[in-house]
Amino acid sequence: MPLNNDGVMIILSSPSGAGKSTLVKMLSELENFKVSISHTTRKPRLSETPNKDYFFVNEQEFKRLINNQEFLEYAKVFDNFYGTTRTPVIEKLNKGKNVLFDIDWQGADQIKNKKLDYKLITFYLLPPSKEVLFERLSNRDMRDKLIAEERMKQFERDVLHWINYDYVVINDNLDKCFLKVKNLIEAEINNGSKDYDPDFIREHINSLTS
Ligand code: ADP
Ligand code: 5GP
Repeated sequence: MPLNNDGVMIILSSPSGAGKSTLVKMLSELENFKVSISHTTRKPRLSETPNKDYFFVNEQEFKRLINNQEFLEYAKVFDNFYGTTRTPVIEKLNKGKNVLFDIDWQGADQIKNKKLDYKLITFYLLPPSKEVLFERLSNRDMRDKLIAEERMKQFERDVLHWINYDYVVINDNLDKCFLKVKNLIEAEINNGSKDYDPDFIREHINSLTS
């Protein structure tokens, strides 16, 4: 059972480009929220700061961390390894900090299956449409133009995983999406009433996948 003063684990997943890194940054500015900084073997984007957005490591270092069993979860995504080291997460939770995870469905599944003694809330973000998603992926960073199409191909497979999450939220207007996620987290923590319409979400998923 989670202790009352422990922090809460909050996972945000989505098809690439739907906006989870942006949302995680906004949520991390709330009092008592901290981001779990992942390790990755991917190269930094122009806009990224090492040790803040990710710990950028080579494959040899990543494999050393796997062998030392330092990861709470890890996965291969788009030909690169990504993982969450356990110790910094547990330290933050034990200090009462709520920890935000920007991780894919494989990592979310692994954390769920661990059944840790901390409350876990999982969100799956969706774009308003596939056209908007492609635009966001293409605009993110010049180098991403080369891989935007690759990531769009993955969209059809990724989106199927929405079903395993507590809440699915559409990231159309950023501020509205932020408030929706924030309110759902607060309602979960305080056992309050939740503004959530599963039928509307199901219809949106049908429109994205048809
Ligand atoms: P992800 O982490 O899910 O791959 P990002 O957070 O990097 O996605 O967002 C992809 C791009 O879309 C970024 O350039 C970001 O600034 C932009 N973006 C995110 N949310 C919105 C939104 N609601 N409206 C317009 N642009 C957005
Ligand atoms: P990006 O390269 O766009 O930053 O991330 C690609 C994908 O990897 C995203 O779906 C992101 O959520 C996921 N990701 C980032 N860090 C981790 C992690 O530590 N573990 C897992 N499983 N996925 C991660």
